[in-house]
Amino acid sequence: MSEVARAVATLRDGGLVAFPTETVYGLGADAANSEALARLFAVKGRPREHPVIVHLGAVEDLDAWARTVPTSARRLVEVCWPGALTLVLERADRVPDAATGGLDTVGLRVPAHPLALELLGAFGGGLAAPSANRFGRVSPTTAAAVAAELGSEVDQILDGGPCSIGVESTIVDCTHGAPRILREGGISRERIGEILGREIDVGGATRA
Ligand code: AMP
Ligand code: MG
Repeated sequence: MSEVARAVATLRDGGLVAFPTETVYGLGADAANSEALARLFAVKGRPREHPVIVHLGAVEDLDAWARTVPTSARRLVEVCWPGALTLVLERADRVPDAATGGLDTVGLRVPAHPLALELLGAFGGGLAAPSANRFGRVSPTTAAAVAAELGSEVDQILDGGPCSIGVESTIVDCTHGAPRILREGGISRERIGEILGREIDVGGATRA
């Protein structure tokens, strides 16, 4: 069985699989499985009310996970996905409370890493994947760093080499009229402004 096939079986079984993205390594769990999410939060030592980013395998999956997608969000998706941009949107009914910390919104991203996309494509669902470190520690950018940080607590680590970007995704909140940057990361504020043709505010209620 290939590494990816084994990872898919593990995820379907509610297990945890660390995988590379172009930003940092994520600790992945089936985003539709509340029990798997509970284990994810426990392993990270992350407070349950902190939302996680749900990773999708294709741009077309967006409408299954977001209730509404404003024009500005569609424009950002067209230009930036797959890529280092997370959009906060109103969540669709299928998104469990455990993935959003009980919020009515969900963070969504299609990563631009071939192994992440292969895994997501084979899995066929969304993967909740916060950075593969314990709460409050630096985000890992190699498989060896994930192993050193989480070791035996993850069921499998997919090694895709060092992350090309090495910093987190930029998070843009599209749920309150004018899009706002909640966290500046791999894509700059200037670039987001250029794509939308307007100045973009930074700051607001991200929950680290
Ligand atoms: P990490 O997964 O470790 O990169 O952290 C995810 C980041 O995304 C955290 O800062 C979260 O607060 C933020 N995030 C995810 N979903 C939402 C949401 N629905 N609303 C606001 N921030 C979010
Ligand atoms: Mg993190």
